[in-house]
Amino acid sequence: MTGRIPLIVANWKTNKKVAEVYDFLQEIQGKLPDPKRVRVGIAAQDIYLHEMVKQSQELDIPVAVISENLHWADEGSYTGETSPAALADIGVSGSIVGHYERRKMFKETNGSVGLKVTAALRNELIPIVAIAEDTTRYNPDDEDMAPLTEIAVGLAGVDKQRAENIVVAYEPAWAIGASETPSLEVIEHSARVIRQSLAILFTQEVADKIRIQYGGSVTPENSKEILGLADIDGLLIGRASLEPAAFLQMVNDAI
Ligand code: PEP
Repeated sequence: MTGRIPLIVANWKTNKKVAEVYDFLQEIQGKLPDPKRVRVGIAAQDIYLHEMVKQSQELDIPVAVISENLHWADEGSYTGETSPAALADIGVSGSIVGHYERRKMFKETNGSVGLKVTAALRNELIPIVAIAEDTTRYNPDDEDMAPLTEIAVGLAGVDKQRAENIVVAYEPAWAIGASETPSLEVIEHSARVIRQSLAILFTQEVADKIRIQYGGSVTPENSKEILGLADIDGLLIGRASLEPAAFLQMVNDAI
């Protein structure tokens, strides 16, 4: 018993029109498990978030509405950015920070990730920090658990008092949008290295409370075995989360 409640998050990216968003919410209404056993989140484009919060409240759907990005400043002159304070104000529960696609296509760095994590925590948003460091580090005999750069640099300035609210999503770059996942052995090893890195950066007590998700080509075919790994506390799911029945199955695999 780790006490960490699994968190399954859909990452819809730049997909779905508004009617499809409504349809999805109606499809999952009344079908999600008790949030005491599994927490469920949906990350969507900013334009849908306010309506999703309202719909989930009206339909009584226990789903956390999540942004796919956020800015580090609560207000000011940052044309085109979304304020974390504004996200919190409309009832958003968390934000994905530093997704591989943002690091690669929009040049996000560990520095900006750190600022955004701090901004999320300051506004009581759960930051889902995506770690895409490649798995070439994998070596089962390697007992030297040096902190991963993306964690060591990206989370270095984060307030220890709030750090337990962070979620880390381990997403090997090559597995995102692909057709294969790493072996279960590699996923488990990587999650263990991440938790040890978090313990070095914060404390073991804090590291033991932080949820570590796996992401990258998760499907209803492989979700259950990945969720069965000791250090994995949830999933960040792209393509397979777009269809309600598949998403519900993967959510239920976490029970
Ligand atoms: C992602 O981009 O976060 C992701 C996990 O995508 P997919 O599941 O489609 O590989």
